[in-house]
Amino acid sequence: MNIQTIYAVGRNYAKHAQELGNDIPSEPLLFHKPASAAVYAEGQTIPLPFDKGEVHFETELVLRIGKRPSQGATVDELISHITVGLDLTLRDVQSELKKNGHPWLRAKGFRNSAVLGAWQPWMGYESFKSQPFSLEKNGHQTQHGTPSEMMFSVERLLAELDEWFGLAEGDLLFTGTPEGVGPLVSGDKLNLLLGDQDVGRITIG
Ligand code: ZN
Repeated sequence: MNIQTIYAVGRNYAKHAQELGNDIPSEPLLFHKPASAAVYAEGQTIPLPFDKGEVHFETELVLRIGKRPSQGATVDELISHITVGLDLTLRDVQSELKKNGHPWLRAKGFRNSAVLGAWQPWMGYESFKSQPFSLEKNGHQTQHGTPSEMMFSVERLLAELDEWFGLAEGDLLFTGTPEGVGPLVSGDKLNLLLGDQDVGRITIG
């Protein structure tokens, strides 16, 4: 499936904002990654730029826009697929950029920074709201969340993205990470789970 713009929202789970010492935002903190940063987790080993500092995992539900929305389209009309992904972050680089008031592109948009599990059909907005997702790192559950913990709803996020940027078919949205983020090291084995379903595996190179 084609990938257009990869949008993401920061600090959408209160406990994650707190663990990094960030304020709770009053409106969604939106950023994006180049489409070339995407990589599907298909059991392979992926190289990461550890020479640039700590790389943190952030486990997130990822939504795919299925068709260009008409004005006032509902969430169910907009979204075609869902999966679990990793918004990989160069945390040391990000801290430096934040300190200087610079854009996050280098910290969030590097090669392989948008890891995607296999696409699953959209389950409908009502079922989505209680859909659990998790990350297993080296066989242990390391992050777990459900959309009910989000501060800004998917409905609000999609409306805002469409108003500002104009959503298009193939756009993706990383919906934010729950608490429990941390650094990766070479050799880590990661398993992405949507509920009980294994949707992707990678090894860190
Ligand atoms: Zn994130």
